[in-house]
Amino acid sequence: MGNKDSIEFNFSEALLVKNTEIYKNCTNIVIGKGNLNASILFVGEAPGRNEDLEGFPFVGAAGKNLDKLLLKVGLSMNDVYIANILKCRPPENRGPTDDEIKAHTPWLLKQIRDIRPKVICSLGNYATKFFLSGVNVDKMKDMPGITSVHGKVKMININDIEIKLIPLFHPAAIIYNRSLLGEWEKDIEIVKKEIGQKSLI
Ligand code: URA
Repeated sequence: MGNKDSIEFNFSEALLVKNTEIYKNCTNIVIGKGNLNASILFVGEAPGRNEDLEGFPFVGAAGKNLDKLLLKVGLSMNDVYIANILKCRPPENRGPTDDEIKAHTPWLLKQIRDIRPKVICSLGNYATKFFLSGVNVDKMKDMPGITSVHGKVKMININDIEIKLIPLFHPAAIIYNRSLLGEWEKDIEIVKKEIGQKSLI
C-alpha cells in the first residue's frame, strides 16, 4: 500500500495533484526528503520507478549519484531538502507535460513558502526552466537550457521571498556524461559560497 492510500491530502495544492492521470497510476506521492530547515532546496524533475515504489525522491540510480556528489563536496541530507517538479511518476519516465507541471507545482511553491530556502538548485532542464520562466509554465519553452545557465546565480522572487537560483546539471546526466562531473563540482562551490557559511543551516 502506498502513501496515497493511507494519508489524507486534502489541501488545495494536493487536490490539484490528485486530479491528474499520473496520480491515479502511481504508488506513492513523492513529496520530498531532507531537512525542512535547510538553506538549500534541490528541485529535480519527477519520481522514477524506485522513487514511486519507496515514496521518496532520488533513491534510485540518480539519487545514489546525488548522494555521492553531495558527500564529495562535504554536504549531507541534513544540509538540503529535495523535492521535484512532479509529485507522481509519469509512465515510462517520460517528461512532464505542461498540464502536469501546472497541476503539480502549486504544491512545490507551497513547500518553498514553508521552507523559505536561501538557495534553490534546480536539477536539469525542467526545474531550471520552471524557475527561470518566473514559474510561468507557458513560458518555459522559451527559456535557455541547463548547458548555458548551469552555475549562474539568478535572484528570483517567489511569493515575496528572495531566493538565489543556481541551476545544476541533473545527477542522472552526470552518470551518462562523466565530463559534466567537473562542472558540477565547480557549480556546487558557487552554491556553498552563496550560502556564505560553513554550516549550511
Ligand atoms: N530524477 C528526478 O528528477 N527526481 C527523482 O526523484 C529521481 C530521479
